[in-house]
Amino acid sequence: MSHLDRAACAAQDDGDHLAFARDRFDLPAGIIYLDGNSLGALPKRTPTRIETVIRRQWGTDLITGWNKHGWVDLPRRLGARIADLIGAHADEVVVCDSTSINVFKLLSAALRLRPDRKVVLSDTGNFPTDLYMAQGLADLLGRGHRLELVSPADITARIAEDVAVVLLTEIDYRTGRRHDMAAINARARAAGALTLWDLAHSAGAMPVDLDGTGTDFAIGCGYKYLNGGPGAPAFLYVARRWLGETQQPLFGWFGHAAPFDFETAYQPRSGIDRFLVGTPPVLSMAALECGLETFAGVDLSQLRAKSLALGDLMIRLVAQECPGLGLTLASPIDAGRRGSQVSYAHASGYAVMQALIARGVIGDFRAPDLLRFGFTPLYTRYQDIWDAVAALKTVLEQGEWQRPEFSHRAAVT
Ligand SMILES: *Cc1c(COP(=O)(O)O)cnc(C)c1O
Repeated sequence: MSHLDRAACAAQDDGDHLAFARDRFDLPAGIIYLDGNSLGALPKRTPTRIETVIRRQWGTDLITGWNKHGWVDLPRRLGARIADLIGAHADEVVVCDSTSINVFKLLSAALRLRPDRKVVLSDTGNFPTDLYMAQGLADLLGRGHRLELVSPADITARIAEDVAVVLLTEIDYRTGRRHDMAAINARARAAGALTLWDLAHSAGAMPVDLDGTGTDFAIGCGYKYLNGGPGAPAFLYVARRWLGETQQPLFGWFGHAAPFDFETAYQPRSGIDRFLVGTPPVLSMAALECGLETFAGVDLSQLRAKSLALGDLMIRLVAQECPGLGLTLASPIDAGRRGSQVSYAHASGYAVMQALIARGVIGDFRAPDLLRFGFTPLYTRYQDIWDAVAALKTVLEQGEWQRPEFSHRAAVT
């Protein structure tokens, strides 16, 4: 392969069909941000929108804002926008609560549909909160449910008649390895098992086809690729075929058929609204709406193509610029099997990442030894990949990461 230089990388930005979207973000000068998979960048519209909701809506109209400004419709309105990104109908998606809480609600709902089966099947690479919620639910139910973990490659073979629910994250948060959602759904359907997919690293990073692949349930984050801001509300998806018969256990008044009748007995609303629990966080939802607006006019297949091209470029440049510097690729080299990130193992990964951040290249670290670089095609440029790899090379060649301040672990890595 020919040798690449910075000019060749920057030239790719000239032909980028998504270049227009970068201007929708307020990105700090001098920073290369490769962590939109943990916390999306700030959309330019967000501060003014929040200010408007606070001063002009809340400040001026007080409680009448719930009707006057459609605050009460936010969970469905935002759900409909997310539905477009994940291959769902608008009446199958709603924004509410956190991803963790939504795992609890939907896993409960799914287990009710398979009362005779006791196994929740997941893989050893799944995100811990999903696994913890499953353990907590099994404990609460006290009916002998158990969470069974197998390696990601063994999932399909393990799906059998005893499995109630297959609980998986499509894109492995550490390595970026992608599960074959269509194939796993087909296998689950054949065995009578239900699927619950976590789209934390998929929604907004690539096209997802929940309806087309026959997914039963899904959940995902608002603050990663959807750019909703720190702690943004999450979303959940329930396939139409389950909307009528499925019930979740958190009987809150926003899931009641007539919340403002103030009846003493719970009666679930019809449709996706029964998956709501309490009052929506209006300010956070206003911020998430701005995050979703950054996708206006964006073609998701172009988004995916750029995301994979950025990943391929990173892999090629690290191989070219950093041989013998202790980095081992931890992500699939085959783009089709990857999400929108590339990870490298390094024996001193934490300190290396801190030294990189000190140089203005922000990725993150995942235990035990992974440097993680996320690509957000709406604002990541090809030249950024060159600059990030150049900084990585310097950090490793000069041994900058060995400075004592870089090995002090902060609470959030
Ligand atoms: C980020 C992430 C979560 C986070 O859940 P919260 O309830 O928002 O803290 C859950 N699952 C996966 C796969 C994630 O990557």
